[in-house]
Amino acid sequence: MLPLIDTHIHLDFPAPAAAEADRLAAARSGGVEGFVIPGVKPAGWAGIVALAEQQSDVYAAPGLHPAYAEQWNGTVAMELTRLAAQERVVAIGEIGLDGAVGPAFEIQERVLREQLAIALKMNLPVLLHARKATGRLLEILRELQVGPRVGGIWHGFSASLQVARQLVGEGFLIGVGPILLRENARKLPQVVTELPLSGLVLETDYPDMTADPAVLLQVAERIAVLREEPLKMVLTATTANARRLLGVVLVAGGAGQ
Ligand SMILES: [Zn+2]
Repeated sequence: MLPLIDTHIHLDFPAPAAAEADRLAAARSGGVEGFVIPGVKPAGWAGIVALAEQQSDVYAAPGLHPAYAEQWNGTVAMELTRLAAQERVVAIGEIGLDGAVGPAFEIQERVLREQLAIALKMNLPVLLHARKATGRLLEILRELQVGPRVGGIWHGFSASLQVARQLVGEGFLIGVGPILLRENARKLPQVVTELPLSGLVLETDYPDMTADPAVLLQVAERIAVLREEPLKMVLTATTANARRLLGVVLVAGGAGQ
């Protein structure tokens, strides 16, 4: 079984530690050998970095989710900069714009820009979140040259093939998750079929999108069916893409303690 990397899994929230350990074990036996945990609120950052320090297949991506942008301040900015220098921190995330929840867009945008500045300064890629804000987020990323400078993953992608092509052309990867398994998925299957395999990575977005992190393999299988390519090719490429961007080192035989 070739290794998989889950580039977006919220293991810290809201499940308690024991349940998380069980879910990690299930995903590991399903072939997942690398987990990237994005931040949501500053209060959770220390926990995810500590988890990444304890578990050799877990990596941290602290950042402030746009829904909680009002929690940003100078102290929080300093803390994020400090964490960004930690060895087990591989990205800043999840950051972006959310047109459905959170404070006013101008606040979200200011907080996004400050976090992008930290990512650029610390030379870390970003995990991006966009809801009802695709065009504006693209503009900001272009203005700051985020793609060519550090790159990133557009998580939970649900926009058009045209946008996906632009993003990949600018140095970003498209995060493909359980939305692909839905009967009524329309745009994402097209994106997954038409894009070069070099533009795709896998994610579960557990627990928001699925109750089971082991579903990652099913997402890969679905990509293989849609593209009419061997599963092995999909696993090899998506894992290599994630490793190249994030610098994740896989420890053979999975891990933990
Ligand atoms: Zn998320």
